[in-house]
Amino acid sequence: QQPLVIARDLRRHFPIRSGFFGRRTGTVHAVDGVSFEVVKGETLGIVGESGCGKSTTARLLVGLIALDAGDIIFDGDRLGDELSLRELRRGVQMVFQDSYASLNPRLTIEDSIAFGPRVHGMSEGQARRRARELLASVGLEPARFAGRYPHELSGGQRQRVNIARALAMAPRLVILDEAVSALDKSVEAQVLNLLADLKEERDLTYVFISHDLNVVRYISDRVMVMYLGEVVEIGPAEAVYARKAHPYTAALFAAMPSMDPDARTEEPPLAGDPPNPIDPPTGCRFHTRCRFAEAVCTAVKPALASVPGEARGGEARAEAHVAACHMLVAGSGHSAVGAAA
Ligand code: SF4
Ligand code: MG
Repeated sequence: QQPLVIARDLRRHFPIRSGFFGRRTGTVHAVDGVSFEVVKGETLGIVGESGCGKSTTARLLVGLIALDAGDIIFDGDRLGDELSLRELRRGVQMVFQDSYASLNPRLTIEDSIAFGPRVHGMSEGQARRRARELLASVGLEPARFAGRYPHELSGGQRQRVNIARALAMAPRLVILDEAVSALDKSVEAQVLNLLADLKEERDLTYVFISHDLNVVRYISDRVMVMYLGEVVEIGPAEAVYARKAHPYTAALFAAMPSMDPDARTEEPPLAGDPPNPIDPPTGCRFHTRCRFAEAVCTAVKPALASVPGEARGGEARAEAHVAACHMLVAGSGHSAVGAAA
């Protein structure tokens, strides 16, 4: 499958200023050399603690913030060359966690959905027809809902409106950044099912960002794990969930309540907060919290490399499952690192 998105060595740093003159006192390496692909038609899940760079990666992909370095290639066209920012922003749409903040409270939901298409030159009548058609496809009866205002809707209904609004631009890729995280469990399940149906119907590709590993497992084909602005593991969802090849992945999963009561883990949950991203640790950024850390880990940054000896699946899958850890690559007898469940 040809990738819809190729993200190559994305970098985004935020200056930290303080004092009366706003002197630059540091730099947050929010996204620091992140590379990955999004395959057409898949759902790529992105997980990691808050501050790991998930949302910054998403905002870079949709063109909401500018890259400091790196390349975004969308459907074969490189941003800045054949692809303009405007085209990227149309082709990639985003749904955020806060359903209320992303809607204009003074616009009816029909007007909110029709707004984007109108700005992009669609006639009033056409834009309205599209808005009503989209309301129906997200499960909100147009006759009942078109004239309502955001405050008259429930959180789940508002999130359906936000999904309709994203789809109004006929995007190829939709980025869902904690899009179901604020919803009650039952509503969340309904919205997840809706997302799955829309993906089928409209040939969509998703990037699904969430702190909820159970939801990510349910919806994702592949999963990418981020830590302090870097990718530490990426692979098919079942392989990453079964193997947890990177010690950070294992620790992250150990901290989560499991849906499967039989899934016991020996792994102690992750202690403490991530280190200060202004001054990230040398070598492997996880070394300050990793129970397998050795001298090499503080000195040398580990590169992403194939996870050896997959618990399940063949060579092809192992090829696509990579993690950045010295112990994994060396295969130095750290049986606990990446041991099959
Ligand atoms: Fe832990 Fe070292 Fe692997 Fe980093 S490289 S995850 S510190 S064992
Ligand atoms: Mg976030």
